[in-house]
Amino acid sequence: MEASAATALVTGAFRGIGKAVAHCLARDGLQVYLTDVSEPEEAAPTIREIEEQGGRARAFRLDVSDAQAVSDFFAAEIKNRVQLAVLVNNAGITKDGFLIRMQDEDFDRVLAVNLRGAFTCLREAAKIMSKQRSGRIINISSVSGQMGNVGQINYSASKAGLIGMTKSAAKELAARNVTVNAVAPGFIETGMTAVLSEEVRAAYLEHIPLKRLGQVDDVAEAVAFLASDRANYITGQILAVNGGLYC
Ligand code: NAP
Repeated sequence: MEASAATALVTGAFRGIGKAVAHCLARDGLQVYLTDVSEPEEAAPTIREIEEQGGRARAFRLDVSDAQAVSDFFAAEIKNRVQLAVLVNNAGITKDGFLIRMQDEDFDRVLAVNLRGAFTCLREAAKIMSKQRSGRIINISSVSGQMGNVGQINYSASKAGLIGMTKSAAKELAARNVTVNAVAPGFIETGMTAVLSEEVRAAYLEHIPLKRLGQVDDVAEAVAFLASDRANYITGQILAVNGGLYC
């Protein structure tokens, strides 16, 4: 492990989109820290794959909804230990339900993980990147935060909140050469969408001009672009990766 290596921290990285992002960033030469609410052993096969391809990666348990744990993690593993080049706020959950039946706990939990979790990681990363005078922050929002979605009052509020947070942070951090952007995926084939019935999938497909659900790599490549030098002059933007579903 190279302590001074340019490092990308990805939250919720043990499966789905986060895992694909970790692979892409490692391919692009970054040391990748994969974090997730699950135990690090779960990421062992991913770490092995990355290393076999010549990359560098480590896995850590980090529940982004636990603000103290986030602050402790940055103090123990990031600050003064690695050059934090990229933060990808990817961890996210759904607790869907119709508005009139939505429980307070389900609203609060989704906001605690998707929005406040991203905020606490963003705040810690911003302190470090501001000092470095360089850094890339990419927040994973959603088409649901852009156009709304039935049964996702809590989720769409959290993802719309991420868009506002992205734009505000971009303005605050630009003077320090830190860019902040969001990627807003449409419907992507992951564990999160595996629970959808055939009927619901067919209904979504009808409205997607490219006539397919997205793959995790479709999203990961957009994140990799925003994390790269090719995106030097892009900040405060929301890059939709949705097959044309919302434009
Ligand atoms: P996923 O397969 O469910 O992966 C989400 C990851 O986040 C999981 O590894 C999960 O861990 C982790 N996680 C959950 N709670 C966490 C917490 N408190 N702290 C840290 N990690 C936590 O979902 P995905 O589809 O890849 O979603 C990734 C991101 O893309 C999410 O922000 C999601 O909202 C967004 N997104 C997805 C889609 C889509 O269609 N799939 C569309 C738009 C946006 P466990 O599984 O162990 O709980």
